[in-house]
Amino acid sequence: MIKLFSDKKIAELFELLNTSQKITVVTHVNPDGDAIGSATGWCSFLRKRGFNPIIIVPNHFPNFLKWINGTENIHVYFNNKDTCERLLKNSDLLFCLDFNNLSRLGALGEFIMTLDIKKILIDHHIGAEEKNFSLAFSHVPISSTCEIVYRIIWQITGRRHVSPQIAESLYAGIMTDTGAFTHSCSSDLFRIVADLMECGINREKIHSSVYNSFSVNRMRLMGYFISKIEVLPEYRTACIALTKEELDRFEFESGDTEGLVNIPLSIRDTVLSVFLTESREGYIKLSLRSVGEFSVDDMARRYFNGGGHKNASGGKSFVSLSESVTFFKSILPEFKDALLMVND
Ligand code: 5GP
Ligand code: MN
Repeated sequence: MIKLFSDKKIAELFELLNTSQKITVVTHVNPDGDAIGSATGWCSFLRKRGFNPIIIVPNHFPNFLKWINGTENIHVYFNNKDTCERLLKNSDLLFCLDFNNLSRLGALGEFIMTLDIKKILIDHHIGAEEKNFSLAFSHVPISSTCEIVYRIIWQITGRRHVSPQIAESLYAGIMTDTGAFTHSCSSDLFRIVADLMECGINREKIHSSVYNSFSVNRMRLMGYFISKIEVLPEYRTACIALTKEELDRFEFESGDTEGLVNIPLSIRDTVLSVFLTESREGYIKLSLRSVGEFSVDDMARRYFNGGGHKNASGGKSFVSLSESVTFFKSILPEFKDALLMVND
């Protein structure tokens, strides 16, 4: 496996670490497996090197990630603003994991922007604003932030400092961000997975903790979601919209909608899937998934104040749910040629 980062960059990382007293790790709104896995894995590594970092996330993270070691100590900004702000004011180094721009942290990001603090980015999203960071480990073609964290650790120490705990966190993030190894998998990724297995992880246990831990409500929500799929065959597109009231019928909890947007891509000839929901924060949240060369990052960036990856992006809309659906359908003709050209 080749080194992704120069020795100079790794030396700069140590220079920043060794001149810092209080380290904080932050990750994006609606933290997913990669966000939580990379934050807990990186913190375990830092702890082994004698640091005492803390993790702050903007809002709740799903129950199916709560078995990961270290999640019990995560501070949730939404629940406890004052404590989080005090901790951040006392920090002198911030690791920014799994997002490309502080705006992805919502209100937490706005607070961080008021602080004079050194920031290090570790991320794999398109369009990272590297100039806003003291140092950036940003690589778009890499499967996940967890893979980047592994590669940094590997460059520093080989596998020597990868405990079973670190390996478990990183594997969980790699598994979830690749859709259980269905996309973004390079041959190097499988070499890394082999390394993680040799570090003592239990793959079956991790898989089962994440994917076989649905509540009955979550399962029924999935059935309801499927019943509401609208297929637009002329655009090879599927579109699903759920109101807050519909979500509440299933006692919706954070994480319950995770992964649903991928389901319509199993319909023959469908290459674009868009899922719109009314968020608790008052705006419409869009999740976009595509196949092949069609870039949902492009679509989300241009029309929905968002972005992410070529085949998986998110965005926001600030009109009503039905107006957002109408607007989404109104832009489809512009993308028709590109959608028809996709080799699926
Ligand atoms: P999801 O649809 O699962 O919320 O997000 C898919 C991908 O797009 C994730 O990698 C996520 O980090 C990114 N993403 C989600 N929402 C936004 C957004 O509002 N802005 C940007 N830039 N990226 C987003
Ligand atoms: Mn990620």
